[in-house]
Amino acid sequence: MISALMPNYNRADIAFDHGQGAYLFDLAGRRYLDFGAGIATSSLGHGHAHLVRAISEQAAKVIHVSNLYRVPQAERLAARFVAASFADSVFFCNSGAEANEGLVKAMRKTHADAGHPERTRVICFEGAFHGRTLAMISATGNPKYLEGFGKPVEGFDHVPFNNMNAVRAAITPETAGILIEPVQGEGGVRPADLQFLRDLRATCDEFGILLGLDEVQCGMGRTGRLFAHEWAGIAPDVMSLAKGIGGGFPMAAVLATESVAKALVPGSHGTTFGGGPLACAAGNAVLDVILADGFLDQVQATAAYLRVGLQALCAKHGDVFTDVRGSGLLLGLKCAVPNGQVQNAALAAGLLTVAAGDNVLRLAPPLIIGPAECDEALVLLETTARACAPAKTEAGAK
Ligand SMILES: *Cc1c(COP(=O)(O)O)cnc(C)c1O
Repeated sequence: MISALMPNYNRADIAFDHGQGAYLFDLAGRRYLDFGAGIATSSLGHGHAHLVRAISEQAAKVIHVSNLYRVPQAERLAARFVAASFADSVFFCNSGAEANEGLVKAMRKTHADAGHPERTRVICFEGAFHGRTLAMISATGNPKYLEGFGKPVEGFDHVPFNNMNAVRAAITPETAGILIEPVQGEGGVRPADLQFLRDLRATCDEFGILLGLDEVQCGMGRTGRLFAHEWAGIAPDVMSLAKGIGGGFPMAAVLATESVAKALVPGSHGTTFGGGPLACAAGNAVLDVILADGFLDQVQATAAYLRVGLQALCAKHGDVFTDVRGSGLLLGLKCAVPNGQVQNAALAAGLLTVAAGDNVLRLAPPLIIGPAECDEALVLLETTARACAPAKTEAGAK
């Protein structure tokens, strides 16, 4: 008989009771070091006093009012994003896929309003992940996610990642824009070359098309800057955020320049839950922490420290881990044995990680960790490597 909970996930047989900082405790009281952060989402770790207080206090006042009325918490959060980014205006919603839907709709409407309703197509990249709605599985383009769901939604063209010639060759009079993750997450923790991002910006300007960034996973401080594109010194026209934005509370956003945002007039787009008082209280609390003096410097320092340790791990255990990739605290270990096996061994050792594409083990710890948690993770990864090492055949044996 089917389980009451739909069987659409491959869940590990483990359930957590509570968490504190970078640690989660299962129902039996066993402690795990959380280097997955619920897929790069619990950015402040677990039980963060400031976030917990903000949510509790707001829940006691009012949880939901709808977008029929002003929401002061959303107005404040939007103003803070505008002050801290390229954006002139912000739309709040509830998930990464929903944010990307809004981003693509805004791109199309911007061109339609400018007298080019034929500009509807978006160039996406091999290895991308943009979410699970019908349009976003098409934007993702991975056959694994499309299979069984009928004809892919029209309007998405795919080219190889980090390949400028392929991008230019794919631009047609029907192209509305380009959508790219500055660091591909699900696809295997693959950063876009910074020069590639700069060239995309220049090419969008040259052809009069829009640059859209999916920073659902790599944004909100994950790379050590508030947004990953800051490392390239460029600004997009429109950007999606989700995962870390609410510190684990479901929330997402579309940030846009005025010329894109003004296309979304009343009636053109909306969402019932988006930008509610509770979600925005969480979002404001997360920004309080991430934008505090020195916080992102600390993330960069911790990331550099962890990376050195991971490189040493690869040098020592090349039969299991072959290289380190990623940016900031969104890191990937390329595996020489199946990454699912490595993930299970890490779990058995007491370390939570997330598998990613391209046989990569993803590490996306809470941004609040320090050297002590890194040292502990490195010890647990050592244990993991020993457990996964292929049996050595003696030279000349057999
Ligand atoms: C997780 C993710 C999404 C989808 O977000 P959901 O909240 O699951 O809809 C989209 N883009 C990227 C880059 C992601 O990592």
